[in-house]
Amino acid sequence: MALEYHQRGPSSPYTFDVVLTACPFCDHDFKPHESRPEHIGEHTPSDAGLTPLGEGGDASGPLFESDPAVATDGGEARER
Ligand SMILES: [Zn+2]
Repeated sequence: MALEYHQRGPSSPYTFDVVLTACPFCDHDFKPHESRPEHIGEHTPSDAGLTPLGEGGDASGPLFESDPAVATDGGEARER
């Protein structure tokens, strides 16, 4: 990903600005004051290798394998 770090002046509470210089989806080079969100918003999820909006895989199962050592009832973790 093409990023540049621009150092801010001593009066700023932040040290650096991080500036996206090229689109990660189509390698478009941004002009200095071009809107990044506007350009990136024109891309579709499939441009990022994701499924289109409204289409997904099988979401019926749990996201993660359950670990019996991790309490899921809001209580403290139990020892194995
Ligand atoms: Zn792009």
